[in-house]
Formats: sequence, structure tokens, C-alpha cells
Amino acid sequence: MTQQPVTNVHLTSPVARVIITELRTADHTTETGGLLLGHHTHDTVTVHHAGTPGPAAVRTPTYFLRDLAHAQALADEAFASDGNIWVGEWHTHPTGRPIPSARDAVTYRQLLDHTELGGFIEQ
Ligand SMILES: [Zn+2]
Repeated sequence: MTQQPVTNVHLTSPVARVIITELRTADHTTETGGLLLGHHTHDTVTVHHAGTPGPAAVRTPTYFLRDLAHAQALADEAFASDGNIWVGEWHTHPTGRPIPSARDAVTYRQLLDHTELGGFIEQ
């Protein structure tokens, strides 16, 4: 399989359910989010698993740092099940505009160079 630049992103129903459930139940005054796991084939990323913040996540109105151990456990489980890998992240902006912030752009650029699950900060 040859990977090409991503022009399509498919979210599966289980992923939508995880995100919707988190949005319904989360504290809406602070950011929430998690990692996205799936497959990149040709020009399409298919997201099969979405993470939640985890019990040790740091959440403020303008800052989000997910629980690394929680994310790593989900990533290990998803990889073992059918080879799902990290394909991205999701998070909310409860106090800002619903577009990537300047800091998000910096974070994403760093992620393009370093795609292993690390302790990187998302805002
Ligand atoms: Zn953001």
C-alpha cells in the first residue's frame, strides 16, 4: 500500500459515539479531547478509535493535556486488535473560535515531525 497525502478522513460510527458521549458528559467550561487511531491507506485516513481525556488529563478553558498513560493504553489495545496507529488528535475550544488556534498549528507541525505518542501539549 502506498501512502499519499490525505485528502479524505472517514470517522467510523464508534468514533462518533465516543466523541459525542464525551461532549455530552464533559465539563463544558474546559477543553476536552483525545487521540485518534486508525489506518492511512492511499489518500484516506479511516479513524477507528477515538480517545477520551483520561483521569489524569489537565483541562482548563484554554489548555488541554491528555492523560498519556490512558492514551498509551488505548493505542496499545488498538494496535494489538488490528494494527491501528496514531492518526491524529481531537479537542474542543469551549472559549474560543472553532478553528485551530495558532498554538494548534505549531503543535500539528511538531506532530508531523514526531508522530510517536509523546507528552506533547495540545491547546
Ligand atoms: Zn485547539
